[in-house]
Amino acid sequence: MPHVVIVGGGFAGLNCARRLAGHPDVRITLIDRNNYQQFQPLLYQVATGLLSPSNAAFSLRAILHDRPNVDVKLAEIGSGDLRARRVTTTDGQTYQGDYLVLAAGSEASFFQTPGASEHSSPLYSLQDAERLRSRIVATLESADRRPAAGDEGALTFVIIGAGPTGVEISGALGDLVQRRLKHTYGDLDRSRVRIVLADRASAVLPTFSTASEAYARAALEQHGVEVRLGSGVKAVEPGSVRFDDGAAIATHTVIWAGGLTAGPLSDHLGLTTGRGRRIDVQPDLGVPGCPGVYAIGDFANTAGRDGRPLPQLASVAEQAGKHCARNIARAIDGQPGEPFQYFDKGIMAMVGRNTAVAELGAGRHELTGPIAFAAWLGVHATLLMTSRARIEAFIEWAWDYFGATYVDPLLDRPEEEPKRWS
Ligand SMILES: Cc1cc2nc3c(=O)[nH]c(=O)nc-3n(C[C@H](O)[C@H](O)[C@H](O)COP(=O)(O)OP(=O)(O)OC[C@H]3O[C@@H](n4cnc5c(N)ncnc54)[C@H](O)[C@@H]3O)c2cc1C
Repeated sequence: MPHVVIVGGGFAGLNCARRLAGHPDVRITLIDRNNYQQFQPLLYQVATGLLSPSNAAFSLRAILHDRPNVDVKLAEIGSGDLRARRVTTTDGQTYQGDYLVLAAGSEASFFQTPGASEHSSPLYSLQDAERLRSRIVATLESADRRPAAGDEGALTFVIIGAGPTGVEISGALGDLVQRRLKHTYGDLDRSRVRIVLADRASAVLPTFSTASEAYARAALEQHGVEVRLGSGVKAVEPGSVRFDDGAAIATHTVIWAGGLTAGPLSDHLGLTTGRGRRIDVQPDLGVPGCPGVYAIGDFANTAGRDGRPLPQLASVAEQAGKHCARNIARAIDGQPGEPFQYFDKGIMAMVGRNTAVAELGAGRHELTGPIAFAAWLGVHATLLMTSRARIEAFIEWAWDYFGATYVDPLLDRPEEEPKRWS
């Protein structure tokens, strides 16, 4: 029975495993360093207390419980010999398949900015989101009991990177301050909270149209977010961020949404990697020179119709995972692989309640406001793997939307409290 080893249980690896599991004569081993799928599009909602962690991470074993030919292994892969279709865990165990799928995603890239990895909070994993949520709550708790400590950046949140992740977390923080703080921290003077979204580019959401960019920027400002464009970050220090133009902002909370790179595993596979440390793949998603090995999702540079690499998006990863499964099934039947063609559903970003931008389909049909907000919720709900996950997320969104209750996040990681207060 052919054996397929898949590294990574995110959108790409999980969709590949589920699709392949439909072939009862194939055995699949899915390896991930977490025993859950983390749903990155919802992480900013976990970080700002809108959703609980269990709404943004789902047990791999539960998702695959009805797929008896899929075996889930909790392990971190540290290296691989692709010509032998073999990977080795960090504790020395090896897994070899007739086919090997690399779907290990990406991680934050700090672009070697001094101090950024030590003094800022990335938002890529569930753990990042939980740590950031505790940092935000700890900051608010401290400010609530020390009314004078709002100076020196105690209540200043600086978000680096004005792409969709930076815009979404900034808008959600703005919502938190404008709608929720008064219910939760009666003594806290909300006018002392400062949210700054900074980017070296000259526009927010640079991959969107000028009209979407203008809408998003105006909406952010209405949410109380200061948008600071055109100057890169020179250094992140304990207590401040310094910019290339010589300015500095005092802050204890820097959120890094500045960019992505493939994880360190790509350096230990004996390959020369491409842009963003990702693996350049053939049109059929195969790794050149390594028959039976595929790379998909954020871990790969996959060319689109125009020859340029497709963006790091959940829908790209999901479709590539399914296509890879099809090509493995074809290879098992002795047929050649088919080229991957991405069906472009568009791009979208949430700014806050009733406020979003969406550019639908390859033609980029532009929507803004409540319709785009509803489209964002609908599209992201369909990406959730199980009906139960969809229902639970919708219940949480409805509670928040209709204002029936406010989820006040627990401070479950007190060590995240900022150390330096004036
Ligand atoms: C904050 C944020 C918001 C986003 N919002 C959106 C959005 O709104 N819409 C959208 O389309 N896209 C969004 N994206 C992008 C989208 O989440 C990614 O493109 C998608 O997750 C890629 O799927 P993947 O399967 O390639 O990687 P991932 O989903 O990252 O999965 C990779 C898996 O590999 C595992 N892994 C990694 N290294 C190892 C190892 N060495 N050993 C074992 N396991 C390993 C990880 O634990 C993980 O489970 C967002 C991304 C971020 C960070």
